[in-house]
Amino acid sequence: NNNQEIILQAENLSRYFGGVKAVDGVSFSLRRNEVLGVIGPNGSGKTTLANLLTGFVKPSKGKVIFEGNDITGSPPYKVADLGIARSFQMVKPFYQLPAFKNLNVALLSPRVRRLAGGRYGDRDAMAKDLLEEVGFERDSWVISHQAASLPHGYLKRLELAKCMALQPEVIVLDELFSGLSLAEVASLVPVIEKLVHQGKTLVMIEHRLKELFRIADRVIVLNFGQKIAEGEPAQVMEDPQVKGAYLGS
Ligand code: ADP
Repeated sequence: NNNQEIILQAENLSRYFGGVKAVDGVSFSLRRNEVLGVIGPNGSGKTTLANLLTGFVKPSKGKVIFEGNDITGSPPYKVADLGIARSFQMVKPFYQLPAFKNLNVALLSPRVRRLAGGRYGDRDAMAKDLLEEVGFERDSWVISHQAASLPHGYLKRLELAKCMALQPEVIVLDELFSGLSLAEVASLVPVIEKLVHQGKTLVMIEHRLKELFRIADRVIVLNFGQKIAEGEPAQVMEDPQVKGAYLGS
């Protein structure tokens, strides 16, 4: 990825909860079409950072700049409408709905309609195509089954499909791989590579470092809310401060 255009920027981003500095003065730039990994021990501020970038939490200090516009404090629906999709570590599907109907929120969104020039496509077919892309077997029971009874691996895939359905520019994935088997992760890697090939930009919060490092161009490392390192995966893991943070956790 040789694209030097900055698509998203965090400037001195901070969020305090009472006395806890969950995110503390974090700055970084995301280049268009790169995969940026965000790693760090439990409680280091990774999910709070995802929440700050996507409007689910308002910063105590600092700014979020997307495509040159200050989006600090914008609510999640506006951030999504601008083209930043987000998956959750704790999946929250509409449990009563069939899996494919869970994509309707995105497929009916103003953004998707706008991108389609106001035309309505066949939403059910679009949803099923997306689910097939993330590894649901076409015409199998899982596609039409209530989300409530889907195995965990499918719920995580559904989260990814929901992001893709929004046709976003940036996708923030909060521990997409958590709880998945090695085979399940291996099957999702090509899906992510395809998104990159299509020009998407990804922020991947991950604990599964081995798998992440195969995909990520760069990583940033958080510890106690602060960015303690940034660089190519192999290089970052050699950093004594990073080793210390992981050994200490
Ligand atoms: P990570 O995702 O790296 O595990 P989090 O962002 O979830 O870290 O949490 C960072 C710190 O902020 C933790 O100490 C956590 O307890 C605290 N924290 C996160 N969200 C809240 C909240 N809503 N209220 C109070 N403390 C919070």
